[in-house]
Amino acid sequence: MLEIILIPALKDNYIWLGINRELAEVFIVDPGEAAPVLAYLREHSLKPIAILVTHKHWDHTGGIEELVSRYPDLQVYAHALENVSSVTHHVKDGEVFKLSMWPEPFTVIHIPGHTLGHVAYYAKPLLFSGDTLFCAGCGRVFEGTAEQMLASLERLAALPDDTQVYCGHEYTQNNLRFAVQVEPENADIAKRYEAVVNLRSSGKPAVPSDMRLERLTNPFLRCKQNVAKFRELREWKDRF
Ligand code: ZN
Ligand code: FE
Repeated sequence: MLEIILIPALKDNYIWLGINRELAEVFIVDPGEAAPVLAYLREHSLKPIAILVTHKHWDHTGGIEELVSRYPDLQVYAHALENVSSVTHHVKDGEVFKLSMWPEPFTVIHIPGHTLGHVAYYAKPLLFSGDTLFCAGCGRVFEGTAEQMLASLERLAALPDDTQVYCGHEYTQNNLRFAVQVEPENADIAKRYEAVVNLRSSGKPAVPSDMRLERLTNPFLRCKQNVAKFRELREWKDRF
């Protein structure tokens, strides 16, 4: 009855829909464009209730205005620092809110670094991590500092093993190609890389993953609070 589905958008963005089939209601995470979401809602006779925005970048927000114009009751959640238009609820770190159509409450985790008001939404066991934690990688540090980004990643890494990581882009294969270079001896990385190459070559997404696997194979979660190490990896990856 409850389901998370993926709508690929733009070049390599993922828009996530949380669907309650019984109520025929949906929440939408990071709608970078409206058209594919509207098409899906129409085709399946679903009503959107809320939009959860992780951060302000256009590839995560470009569809909001059109969705809100079609569904004026839509609630739109984002952090105040992100200046997202049409927001109805400014969220802050540690805030817990409930959507009527979803049984688990959502906890807001403020994770600055990629942008200053970037947040993740955690509704056990789902984590919507935007462009901060990617499967096997992390986002670029655009607005914050390396210290902030590493602290943000470590907060996410402290979530339970079975946390499902739903991120904003399909970068997994390239991230693992990088991870293999960082840790050539890491058998978990080698195994995951092979599995992801297979998934991607048959056209399947490599997202979500779980936090246990991320801790074993994501080089950016393996810096052990060492900011110099994180900075070195991030700079290397920026050029990779
Ligand atoms: Zn972004
Ligand atoms: Fe993005």
